[in-house]
Order: sequence, then structure tokens, then C-alpha cells
Amino acid sequence: MTPAVEFRGIEVRFGRTRALAPLDLTVARGETLAMLGPSGSGKSTALKALAGFVRPSAGRVLLDGRDVTDLPPHRRGLGVVVQSYALFPHMRVDGNVAFGLRAHGVSKSDTTRRVGEVLDLVGMGQYARRYPRELSGGQQQRVALARALAIRPRVLLLDEPLSALDAALREDMVAELLRLRAELPDTTLVYVTHDQGEALALADRIALMRDSRLVETGPCEQLYRRPATEFAASFLGAAN
Ligand code: ADP
Ligand code: MG
Repeated sequence: MTPAVEFRGIEVRFGRTRALAPLDLTVARGETLAMLGPSGSGKSTALKALAGFVRPSAGRVLLDGRDVTDLPPHRRGLGVVVQSYALFPHMRVDGNVAFGLRAHGVSKSDTTRRVGEVLDLVGMGQYARRYPRELSGGQQQRVALARALAIRPRVLLLDEPLSALDAALREDMVAELLRLRAELPDTTLVYVTHDQGEALALADRIALMRDSRLVETGPCEQLYRRPATEFAASFLGAAN
């Protein structure tokens, strides 16, 4: 079966810095892949290359077998949530979610319906008329997630979506994301995190990164119990 996502020798350089060594990695349809690794290991760079926010210096990115390397981000049909993707402060919650849809050419009546649907999906249906400043950090993150889901992406990219939240809220959100996964079984998820607990809780498979390279990939269980590298053992092992 054609993979939903395929990195083919994707390399990213910033001047003399090699932020990502040539990466070969595929993600199957409906799979949740966690890109896990310490800070500076190249996770965000890989995700940005996939989203089209940075231009790879070599390699190709394929979505459903289609080469999208030369397409701008908004033509890739991806849902993206990154920490720095703040909500528009002057727009209400529903306006924030609707914004991307209107830009994608969805009609006004369809937009209204979909906004309601995705806000319900992330448990924010009651908050449609609030402004972002009237919401907690966790609620704002849910709205950002709703905004990404509104375009019905086949692939959803999440870069450290919970890192700004406190521990208790993070746990709630992990449960929420698991529920969401079950409700959207065909959606492929690429989840970037430095937190092994989140990766193990959420992912089908882990791609472990270090020093801009992919070190090892496999099902969570395998990396946790039978790691092939020292690094995986120390980063994921029971000692943590
Ligand atoms: P992670 O998300 O795993 O923390 P990043 O992908 O952000 O790691 O960074 C990987 C490497 O690339 C780091 O060494 C980082 O300093 C470098 N890097 C990332 N973005 C840039 C940039 N815009 N300019 C220069 N170097 C960068
Ligand atoms: Mg990062």
C-alpha cells in the first residue's frame, strides 16, 4: 500500500548547519508516528520539511505517493499544530477555526457546520463565542487542534502540542488525543515530542532522533523492551 507520508533522503541545511541528515522514513495511512528525541535532534526540522515551511537541500517528500516537494504549505492539504501557531487574539474561537476554511474555499454554510463539528470533536463546542484570552492554555491548544482538523486533513502534524501545558493538563490532553485518534481512524498523525511518556502513550511507532539523524524506528513496544541501540535503551528504557 502507498504510504501516507514518505521522506526520501530529505536533508535540510541552514547555512553551514545541517539540521537534518538525509532522512528516509515512511508513515502508513492511519498510523500515528511519534518523532521522539532530545532538543535539537532535528524533529521540528523534519516536520517543517514535510509541511513545506522549510526547503530541503536534498530529497523529496511524498504524500499518498504524490511528490509535494515543490508545493507551498497551503497546497499540501496537511493539518499543522505547532506551539508558535498562536490563535488570532482579535477573533473569537469560531472565527479562528473558520479562518483557514474560508481560505481553502469552503462555502459559508459548510464552514459554519464544520466549525461546530470540530469544536465539538475537541470538546470546545461551548466556547465558540469566546476570545482566546478568555480561555486557558489547554483550551487554546484544543482550539488550535480544531483549526487544524477543520480542513479534514489526511495527515495531521503536531509539534510539541502539549509542551506549554502543566503536567495535569498534559495528561488530560493525551487522553483527548487518544479519543480523537479513535474517532478519526483514517487520519495519519505525525507527533513530534521530546517526551517519551507522550510518545509511548500515543504512538503506534516511534522514530527516534538524535543529532539530526534517525537512530532507530519501530513499534513502541519494541523500542521500549528490545531497543537495538544504546541510545534507545537510555532514552526510552524503564530507567526513565
Ligand atoms: P528539535 O525540534 O528536535 O529540538 P530542530 O529541528 O529545531 O530540533 O533543530 C535541529 C538542529 O537544527 C539544531 O541544531 C538547531 O539549532 C538547528 N536549526 C534549526 N532551525 C534552524 C534555523 N532556522 N537556522 C539555523 N539552525 C537551525
Ligand atoms: Mg522542536
